[in-house]
Amino acid sequence: MNFAFQIGRIAGIPVRLHLTFLLIIPWVAYIFGQVSEPVFGKLYGFGAVPEPTKWVYSLAFAILLFACVGLHELGHSFIARRYGIAIRSITLYLFGGVASMEEIPRDPRMELQMAVAGPLVSGLLGLILIVLYTQIAPLIGVEHPFSIFLWTLGVINLILMGFNLLPAFPMDGGRVLRAWFATWMPYVTATRRAAAIGKIFAFMMTMLGLFSLNILVLIVGLFIYMGASEEERITTIDVSLEGIRVKNIMSSDPRTVGSEMTLRQLMDIMFQEKHRGYPVVDGSVLTGIVTITDLLRVPEDQRESTTVEQVMTRKIYVIEPEDEASAAMKKMTAQSIRRLPVLKDNRLVGIISREDLVRAIELCSERGT
Ligand SMILES: [Zn+2]
Repeated sequence: MNFAFQIGRIAGIPVRLHLTFLLIIPWVAYIFGQVSEPVFGKLYGFGAVPEPTKWVYSLAFAILLFACVGLHELGHSFIARRYGIAIRSITLYLFGGVASMEEIPRDPRMELQMAVAGPLVSGLLGLILIVLYTQIAPLIGVEHPFSIFLWTLGVINLILMGFNLLPAFPMDGGRVLRAWFATWMPYVTATRRAAAIGKIFAFMMTMLGLFSLNILVLIVGLFIYMGASEEERITTIDVSLEGIRVKNIMSSDPRTVGSEMTLRQLMDIMFQEKHRGYPVVDGSVLTGIVTITDLLRVPEDQRESTTVEQVMTRKIYVIEPEDEASAAMKKMTAQSIRRLPVLKDNRLVGIISREDLVRAIELCSERGT
């Protein structure tokens, strides 16, 4: 399920909002409508502004804050695109933005520039807002809600920069650290080392959250811990599969079924051969893929009269025998599917499943890294 919808495009990149994001806007507006604290002697938050003006400012603040988060992501995306990496979209979630791109760069220099670009945008925005504050506040008064607005948004952008530079995955700082390690050690070792530092960091944050009973610190600590583990896992898979091609691990000449076969017949075949999915071929053309999930959706008494054609998936993702095995893994993960037909010159030559990949990863990680 995908609870995100597109709100527009910036420089050709689709910008999407996740539904959780609609919850966070009023919440952030509420928080900033409550606080009024001096930060470096200047008012922060709209708590002291009279109603209803304060809510107008708080709401505008919450919306602009996330626009700034979006600009941070655009910063990463622009550098990525300069290096020829395709950006699918930028999605704004509860905890910030995520730029979805085609391939994670392995080049430390590129990764360093990409990782730094986001915090750099946040830092610049913070500086610009604070400079604007120093120009405008003397004219309209420091207690004017617009002065408070500029100051608060400026300070938050600087905090965003600092927070993102924490040396832990999935923060940008974790990537900076990895890129720096990777300039003099293998990529996996660099990732392991950066992930280990991230985990220590996350552990300390979680402990701090526990002892100070600060739920937010606790959640962020756990979030960083999971991010570090995930990055380590994905990189290990990627590197284990390096140099292995689809043709090396696929099952050749796979068993296929025809589209006019009934589900009853298909079920018998599945039982006998213990496969969970089959490519559907008519003549010599691949027309779909049918899995046990498609079959189980049809009630048992209707399986005799239903054909494969009626339940099969027609939108097929395929891969070529010469492609990297890691590309197959990425495609399966991105589309949440378990197998890919392998096509050569439009002819079905094999099928590759998640099990094939897992087996290859297990065997190859024995090679040592
Ligand atoms: Zn970032």
